[in-house]
Amino acid sequence: MLKGQKALVTGANSGIGRATAIGLGRAGADVVVNYVADRDAAEQVVDEIKGFGVRAAAYEADVSQEDQVIAMVDGMVQEFGTIDILVANAGLQRDARLTDMTLAQWQKVLDVNLTGQFLCAREVTKEFLRRGVVPEVSRAAGKIICMSSVHQLIPWAGHVNYASSKGGVLMMMQTLAQELAPQRIRVNAVAPGAIRTPINRSAWETPEARKDLLRLIPYDRIGDPDDIAYAVVGLASDLMDYVVGTTLYVDGGMTLFPGFATGG
Ligand code: NAD
Repeated sequence: MLKGQKALVTGANSGIGRATAIGLGRAGADVVVNYVADRDAAEQVVDEIKGFGVRAAAYEADVSQEDQVIAMVDGMVQEFGTIDILVANAGLQRDARLTDMTLAQWQKVLDVNLTGQFLCAREVTKEFLRRGVVPEVSRAAGKIICMSSVHQLIPWAGHVNYASSKGGVLMMMQTLAQELAPQRIRVNAVAPGAIRTPINRSAWETPEARKDLLRLIPYDRIGDPDDIAYAVVGLASDLMDYVVGTTLYVDGGMTLFPGFATGG
């Protein structure tokens, strides 16, 4: 489905990014696996992707650092020839109630979750614009998929930095989609609900936590990283060429206000 396309996935040595990088490779794309720590985990992802007969490489960069993002995208273009797909996935949480939240916690989350996506989007767009549409490869000049969250919509007490960063991702995604659509660049987002990864271990690790969490999910199961990977592969493919500026919620119905199923 993505044969001959070159994809960059940030934060791709863990969780959703890992599954997405592997999913893109399985769909035929060559993949750069970005990571900021744990090179071994990144190399494992690379090996798995190479098993599909496509190219893959690990690239260390902190997405919140401008010089590192510029160097990563330049390096990818030099090594892989170009770039067709960005999955801006890297993200983290630094949770605290408002009065306990330090400026460093606020800033770190905004820097990685929002500024990191901005920097990556800006740099890959330069390459999309330079190269333009190559019809044998894709109908679009490039695809950007922002990893957002249901918390771009659902307020989240105790996580004001995270929810604000994802709210920012929504407006950044829509604005870039509007700005870049005339150049045939498609910008969209995927908004996961509760997916079993290291970022939210405490929410699913114990039976009590799992029960609490499932109360918020009408479909009555916690998501797997592959649930998100399939959505990203779909959005990146030409089958969804007319999908521009949309958020695809992949959340088992979490955004359906499940409290109203029996109350209200
Ligand atoms: P994860 O902790 O498994 O993965 C996050 C990845 O981002 C890791 O590889 C981490 O090293 C990387 N990262 C962190 N800071 C970075 C930086 N400065 N530069 C480069 N990489 C960096 O968690 P995950 O659940 O796979 O999260 C992936 C994305 O999905 C995040 O944007 C997260 O907000 C989003 N998300 C996750 C869930 C969920 O339930 N797991 C729900 C909604 C949204």
